[in-house]
Amino acid sequence: MSWGYSDTNGPLHWIEHYEAAAGPHQSPIDIRTETTEYDPELWYHPLRIQHARQYNLEVENNGHSFQADVDDSSSISGGPLGDATHYLKQFHFHWGSSDLQGSEHKVDGKNYSAELHFVHWNAAKYSTFEDAVDKEDGLTVLGVFIKVGQENKEFKKLTDVMHEVLDPYTTTNVGTMFDPRCLLPRNVDKYWTYPGSLTTPPCYESVTWILLEEAICLSHSQLMHLRSLIGGCHSNDEGGCYEDNIVDNFRTINPLGDRVVRASFCTRA
Ligand SMILES: [Zn+2]
Repeated sequence: MSWGYSDTNGPLHWIEHYEAAAGPHQSPIDIRTETTEYDPELWYHPLRIQHARQYNLEVENNGHSFQADVDDSSSISGGPLGDATHYLKQFHFHWGSSDLQGSEHKVDGKNYSAELHFVHWNAAKYSTFEDAVDKEDGLTVLGVFIKVGQENKEFKKLTDVMHEVLDPYTTTNVGTMFDPRCLLPRNVDKYWTYPGSLTTPPCYESVTWILLEEAICLSHSQLMHLRSLIGGCHSNDEGGCYEDNIVDNFRTINPLGDRVVRASFCTRA
């Protein structure tokens, strides 16, 4: 049975098939802001997010999320990455069945309505994404929290083609120029960073997480577009197969363990 988010194949079952999922440094986590450690080095060496505009961006319903596969012209460096350039491979979303939940990470126990993941790989050290994916310093995911508010004009270009990928395992292209920078908040200098894992199988502990403190907005109706997508097959009790809308495609919270969450900013007054 393939993995998913239902009672029968959800996060609590992943360890049965994916060994790494039982590891000590898994994601997502609940960021307890009181226990984060301000690291002035992060403030003095800001992130350099160089996400380029995409022409004819390819987007897909991969059966468990909505994902955009970008060309290799976008990168991130700085902050916890130092001078190492990490190339953007794809970005995708996690969302809820209602506006009350949907994010993978929490902040002081609070959910956001959705979470956007920009997945990068360490091109300074590895030659391909596949080579980097299971290495301790292989990946960097830039996470952006999403709350309900004003419509995002750039995201509308994605919802305009979403009806073409309602079915699982389908792809289409965004015909107009798409600017991924419009999916970042104004302030990218304030973030948390910690060592963690992919939040989907195979859950490799290969991710330097960078979570921006400031959220972006999507409208309720834009989130409804994501909820209209159909997911891959689940097995039912009779051994048959049924399809359902993709909702609540977020993993359960994992213990922080011996890790420290560093902040690029000082929270104390
Ligand atoms: Zn993700």
